[in-house]
Amino acid sequence: MSLKGKNAIVTGAASGLGKRIAELFADAGANIVIADLKLDAAQATADAIARKGVKTMAVAMDVTDESAVDRGFDAVQKQLGYVDIAVSNAGIQIVAPIQDFKFSDWKKLLAVHLDGGFLTSRAAVRQMIASKRGGCILFMGSVHSKEASKLKSPYVTAKHGLEGLAKVISKEGAPYGIRTNVICPGFVRTPLVEKQIPEQAQELGISEADVIKTVMLKDTVDGEFTTVDDVAQVALTFAAFPSNALTGQSLVVSHGWFMQ
Ligand code: NAD
Repeated sequence: MSLKGKNAIVTGAASGLGKRIAELFADAGANIVIADLKLDAAQATADAIARKGVKTMAVAMDVTDESAVDRGFDAVQKQLGYVDIAVSNAGIQIVAPIQDFKFSDWKKLLAVHLDGGFLTSRAAVRQMIASKRGGCILFMGSVHSKEASKLKSPYVTAKHGLEGLAKVISKEGAPYGIRTNVICPGFVRTPLVEKQIPEQAQELGISEADVIKTVMLKDTVDGEFTTVDDVAQVALTFAAFPSNALTGQSLVVSHGWFMQ
């Protein structure tokens, strides 16, 4: 699966899933733009990936900030010419029962996932139309695009919402050769999940081991975590798919936690 000659931007790529996707895309030959909140963290990831022999670039981008997203994509256009692949991946997690959920936390979470998904994909679509090369947009959904869990009202809402956004862009983007898909991972042990284990233990009044066993992996077929590599392989498959037949889809990679 080759991405040779393609330019890919990944948001939230200084850590976790985004970072591994960026590394794997570079292994497949793509030039890589690492977009994240802090320039130094994005730059460190970009520099490490540059050793693979592809062009890299780091941009400081808060995906909830319209001008920051547009400025970041403009910088990419100036330096690399165009974007072929955009992965809207940046995300956060906040857990609490709905009766205690602060409105400010609800808005913060929706802003990162939904405003971020909108602003990132809008900027990508504009460049893909202008370049006349089409492209591939990927959203980082979740099993929570399909299922609900306790304590996650805004996260489940946002991840369901991304599926709708992706379907619209699939239809609107088709005349320009733009395809759009959603990746839906189960639990992966990134910093986002490590932070949640003690938080959920406290909210649910159970041990951290029980959060893993009876909450996170309870419905998997084998009690295993999904890995960053599993998710990055799915992203590469979508990005390298050779035609526009594969669009408007979501693929769950979760050790069978959710089955279509
Ligand atoms: P992570 O915490 O390791 O990485 C998230 C990255 O996003 C960080 O580098 C962070 O700085 C960045 N980020 C946060 N807010 C941002 C903003 N406003 N603008 C730009 N960057 C921002 O987490 P992760 O687990 O790799 O999560 C990546 C994505 O995968 C998220 O959308 C998350 O919801 C999704 N996801 C994760 C899991 C999991 O189990 N880890 C499962 C399903 C989906």
